Parts: sequence; C-alpha cells; structure tokens
Amino acid sequence: MARFYNDLPFQPISQFYKERFSGKVYKIPVTVVDDCPNRRGLKGMQTCVFCDVWGSAAQSESLTMGLREQIEKYHARIARKFNADQFLVYFQAYTNTFTKLEALRINFETALSYPFVKGLVVGTRPDCLSKAVLELWEEYHRKSFVAVELGVQSFFDDQLDFMRRGHTRDQSLKAIEKIKKETSVNLGIHLMFGQPGETDDQIIETARICNDLPIDNVKLHNLHVLTQTPLEEMFHRGEFTPIDREAYAHRVSLFLDHLSPRIHIHRLAAYSSRWEELVAPAWTSDKMGTHQFLIDYLNQQNSYQGRLFKNL
Ligand code: SF4
Repeated sequence: MARFYNDLPFQPISQFYKERFSGKVYKIPVTVVDDCPNRRGLKGMQTCVFCDVWGSAAQSESLTMGLREQIEKYHARIARKFNADQFLVYFQAYTNTFTKLEALRINFETALSYPFVKGLVVGTRPDCLSKAVLELWEEYHRKSFVAVELGVQSFFDDQLDFMRRGHTRDQSLKAIEKIKKETSVNLGIHLMFGQPGETDDQIIETARICNDLPIDNVKLHNLHVLTQTPLEEMFHRGEFTPIDREAYAHRVSLFLDHLSPRIHIHRLAAYSSRWEELVAPAWTSDKMGTHQFLIDYLNQQNSYQGRLFKNL
C-alpha cells in the first residue's frame, strides 16, 4: 500500500507546507467581510443551503473585531497551544473578493506586517474574480505566499442548484483556468460530498476532473446541517438526509483512489467549529474520531490516493 507523509494514505497539505516553509505553518482564520453575492441576493441568488449566519467562519466573534485584533488574538492562542511560530492569515468567511480592491490591499498589507505571518490564504467563489483581483493576488504572490481556496463544491449543475450556489460547473472550470493562466498563486478547491442522489460514478468523475485541472489541493467536506440554514428547514421537513459516516467514508475512498497523487489534501471531512450549531449528522462533531474512522476505513479497504489513477 502506498504511504505518504506521516504514514497517511493520502498526500496531506502539511507535507506541502513543510517543504514550502521548512516547517509547520498554522492558519489564523479571520473575517474581514460580512457579505457575498448570494446573501446580497444579486441576480436572484439565495443564501447557500448549508451556510450559517457566520458565512462559514471558524470564529463567529470575529465579525465584531478589527483585523489586527483578530490576528493578534488568534496568533497568541495558536502559538501558545502548538508552540507555533509560522502562520498564514486565512481570509475565510463569506466571499473575500466581494469588496473594494483597496480594502483587500490594506488587509493584505496589515496581515503581512506581522513577522510571524508567512503568507495569505483567500477564500472566494468562482464568480467573484475580477481582473484587478487576479492582478492583486499576483502582485502579492511575488512578495509572499498567496493561496486561493475556491468554493467549487460540485462539478454537477443539479447539485449546485440544490445547494443554491448560484454558479455553474462551467463557471468553476473557467475560473480555475483563469486563475492559473493569470497568476501563480497556490490554488485549491473545496468539494462537498453527500449530495442527494449522488452516485459512485459522480465521485469518480469528480476525481478525474480534478486530475485534469491545474489545481494544487482539495478540501473535502460532507454536507452537514447547521442551525439557521435553509438546509435545516429541509432536514426538518424530511427533504434532506445527511450522509452517514460509512457511506461518506466510501465516497472519500473512491475519490482518493482515483485522484492524482500530485494533489494535496487539506482535510477529509467537515467539522462543525461551533458544536451547538450542528443539527446533523452527529458524527460531524467528533473531529478526531471521524478523522481516525476515515483513515481506518481507507486502510481496511487498501485504499489510498492514486491507487486507480491513470495518467493518460
Ligand atoms: S457559502 Fe459563501 S457564497 Fe454561499 S451564502 Fe455562505 S458566504 Fe455566501
């Protein structure tokens, strides 16, 4: 069985960070915008079904704090807990390019003014990428490390419609090509498994699409139900059933088997950062238990990243 960094059956992003930064780096999640095209209702868009009131932010209190306050507070907490000395500032919540360019520049400058900050990570959507934003990323990539995490979620339009993403598969594909053509940033995508009607063939097709794209990494999530989300209403009406842990492990295994070993993996599942917000499934609240369950499942199935990958 193939083994990767830390004896894992997949290529963890930590391996990339270790090579790139000669050691461990930790992300400081920050919130600098409180909006996105969906929440604004642009062109009839609606809030994504899974998105909580915090715009999928890790730290809900961040909305009331300035950027410096957030960086200093979370840096102190993470540095103390992990004895960490290298950090990436992660502009995570909502859509971080859905704001004025000058505000983005000021935020980047502020983050990089701290000597312990070694780079920037920007979360955004495939349909919020202006030429000026790409130029800004490229400008900062030349001075520092810039990674972009694109919320693709699915390459199937019916699933995107179900999630009310408000963008299509083609928009995601074009956005990825555009980012790689016009910048040299490190590019990752987020994918969500556990969609209604999702098939094994779709999971394999998703891996094959990833293999053909100029992406550097992938973050996997299971579609879970949080309070105050449209999905919670669907769940209570019996219109959505979250995937169980075994079925999810099977999908992760299928995906990794067919995924090229060149693509790094951020994580294998979604973990609710605020337990009290989790409605279902309960296994999502057990971060360590779920991670170990997935690793054990992969090992039992003799499944590992690239096992069935064909470089045609
Ligand atoms: S997931 Fe992102 S794009 Fe969707 S509603 Fe939440 S913040 Fe907006």
